[in-house]
Amino acid sequence: MKAYERNIRRVEPYVPGEQPQRKVIKLNTNENPYPPAPGVRRALERMDTDRLRLYPDPEASALTEALADYYGVGKDQVFVGVGSDDVLSMCFLTFFNSEKPVLFPDITYSFYKVWAELYRIPYECQELDGNFCIEKEDYYKENGGVIFPNPNAPTGIYETLEFVEDIVSHNQEVIVIVDEAYIDFAGKSAMELLEKYENLIVVQTFSKARSMAGMRIGYAVASPALIRHLNDVKYSFNSYTMNQTSLVCGVEAVKDKAYFEQTVKRIVDTREWAAEQFGKLGFVCLDSGANFLFVTHPEHDARELFEALKEAGIYVRYWGSRRIEQYLRVTVGTREEMETLFEFLKHKLSR
Ligand SMILES: *Cc1c(COP(=O)(O)O)cnc(C)c1O
Repeated sequence: MKAYERNIRRVEPYVPGEQPQRKVIKLNTNENPYPPAPGVRRALERMDTDRLRLYPDPEASALTEALADYYGVGKDQVFVGVGSDDVLSMCFLTFFNSEKPVLFPDITYSFYKVWAELYRIPYECQELDGNFCIEKEDYYKENGGVIFPNPNAPTGIYETLEFVEDIVSHNQEVIVIVDEAYIDFAGKSAMELLEKYENLIVVQTFSKARSMAGMRIGYAVASPALIRHLNDVKYSFNSYTMNQTSLVCGVEAVKDKAYFEQTVKRIVDTREWAAEQFGKLGFVCLDSGANFLFVTHPEHDARELFEALKEAGIYVRYWGSRRIEQYLRVTVGTREEMETLFEFLKHKLSR
């Protein structure tokens, strides 16, 4: 080893799902199968490229205002970032700064562990129970912060607002982050708890329900004091994180509530139908509040199914890690895409 190599910060990076270049049925990264709101396309067509000479608004005011209006909170309660991955990473860096471990589930969004390692934050994973549910009592112990997704990923299981509040109320000495990447497909957001708990941060994204994964927009909503701290850290890296195009398109997406609700409903309807189809084929399907289903088959090996599907041009997600080695995560696509998937599985399983 060269001397300088001893001082390199080594990390084991997060590995995202594949982005194949050939045309496949892509059910592996929870993207939305429908296009963004029509206003987004119109805004792109109207874009004045001369303005790209200029730096974007460092405060991302138009977008933070649109989000503040949408949720009925103050503009000083919204923080935007380059996807919720950026927002969450900034939250780890800003708020998880204790000697005590940060708590999150053992089966959850695998980026949490990566940020904890990168920033050298002590952490402790809490095992989900036998039904893959979070046990709230695991989060009653002393800790340096709490983070969990609701619905959880990759299980898809949604916990009620009462459940979330129970965890927040037992942790008022630390910051609690609820990662709501999939909340629009599920139920009530923890945002309504913000008035009561100034230590709570709710993080959401445009990548799933708003069909804009390619634009990279995420946001946090919290008390003005916490948002100020987040901005201080963000400005210490880069003062212009959000590009002009994303800002303009983000505002358009937020404006079109009707389109958003219609798209979410289509996906939820397809999800319920798909869960039934999986059941008919003998799969066990966890109850999902997200835009994906987490499934296992008692008689068919998950890795083998994953590989056969891939061979057939149908991409789903498989980890093969502890406790979930027999599970596949399948994004809810269009009804037609799902029909192709079930056609294939029907043949495969009968062979
Ligand atoms: C998809 C996802 C995110 C990140 O999404 P961005 O595209 O970075 O906004 C964050 N948390 C969970 C649980 C996710 O599934």
